[in-house]
Amino acid sequence: MSPSAFDVTGADRQHVWHPYTQHGAADPPIQIARAEGAYLVDVNGREILDAISSWWVTLHGHARPEIANAIAKQAQTLEQVIFAGFTHEPAAQLAAGLVERAPVGLERVFFSDDGSTAVEVAVKIALQYWVNRGEQRRTIVALENAYHGDTFGAMSVSARGLFTEPFATLLFDVVRLPDPVEHDVVSALEAVFAEREREIAAVIVEPMLMGAGGMRMWSAGALRGIRELTIAHGIPMIADEVLTGFGRTGPLFACEHAAVSPDLMCLSKGITGGFVPLGATLATNELFDSFKSKDRTKTLFHGHSYTANPIACAAGIASLALLDENSVERRREIGWSHRAAATGLQLIEGIRNVRVLGTVMALDLVARDTGYLSKIGPALGRFALDRGVLLRPLGDTVYILPPYCATDDDLARAYDVIADFMEFQGEPR
Ligand SMILES: *Cc1c(COP(=O)(O)O)cnc(C)c1O
Repeated sequence: MSPSAFDVTGADRQHVWHPYTQHGAADPPIQIARAEGAYLVDVNGREILDAISSWWVTLHGHARPEIANAIAKQAQTLEQVIFAGFTHEPAAQLAAGLVERAPVGLERVFFSDDGSTAVEVAVKIALQYWVNRGEQRRTIVALENAYHGDTFGAMSVSARGLFTEPFATLLFDVVRLPDPVEHDVVSALEAVFAEREREIAAVIVEPMLMGAGGMRMWSAGALRGIRELTIAHGIPMIADEVLTGFGRTGPLFACEHAAVSPDLMCLSKGITGGFVPLGATLATNELFDSFKSKDRTKTLFHGHSYTANPIACAAGIASLALLDENSVERRREIGWSHRAAATGLQLIEGIRNVRVLGTVMALDLVARDTGYLSKIGPALGRFALDRGVLLRPLGDTVYILPPYCATDDDLARAYDVIADFMEFQGEPR
């Protein structure tokens, strides 16, 4: 391919606003020309190992022909149609495929655009469920350090902090449970129910792994405890599996670690294999039936222009097929590789709390400044990029979250670059 004459750098600098980017301080973005498998290739032909699945979305690998072909075929057949009053095979088939693989009891699929909207839909279903039943329950229970997305409802149930600070006064209040990594979250929930059960509309959790809050891994026992309490009190539990879905934590869904089924489950990120945006909120028939009525005010008045976009659904079906084919074995191997590497990394001075859950490895760096704005994260990011590895630490937390096609050699490159950084760190820069 001949290089385009278009001035990408100039146009980007003048006209593009990037996500989570401080344009007053950021390095210029790297222009990627193409990608294949676990690698991105920049315009100069330099290969970069994508050790974070391009913000946790790329599932099987970049440019998988099975998904690319499904998208091309669908785009030439039916690219889009209004989803109110109409349906199509890709949506029906993907819904059935998701239900078949999801924890038992989740029977209905509401499609949306991304993880944040999948959470918005879950929260709105839970809140309106009580309205439809004629009960005044307006309060959501959520976890400390949670991250559920960047729209207002999703921000409201997320932890308050740096990301939400400018909007703090506009977010709705939630009851906050303590971080389940360090606290007895089940007793805390029990206390909440004892005190104000009749206000509580739902409990939302990121099962097993709190992602953007610092790749914090918590126990199946606590998840099961939360689920048992919500069942006992008849309060819907929302499992936000936007990150953990489709095998990231080992089993297909993180809820399987605790053998629990939530009432609502949010999916996105890996749902199309990481090719195109799509969100899905799965619900039980009990919730669905609470909206079914001759009374039109009980309708779920929610929808997006591109709800159940056929191209996105076709990608989702192709991705499910790839998951079925061979990814179980590879996911297990990635876990083994992580655990073997963890032993060595844990011994390095300045690295602590190395942890592994399924295909995700995370560790904390000892830094002078802590938290998301810690300077050590960007320093490691630059160091790794110079060596052809894409890492994007969450402040002082570093993680590896590879596409499943990553080989043991690829993974070793990622571990090594972290170890090397710790060695170089002592030197003046
Ligand atoms: C990324 C993420 C979201 C938000 O998804 P977007 O597609 O970025 O809107 C919600 N919940 C969790 C757990 C996530 O990791």
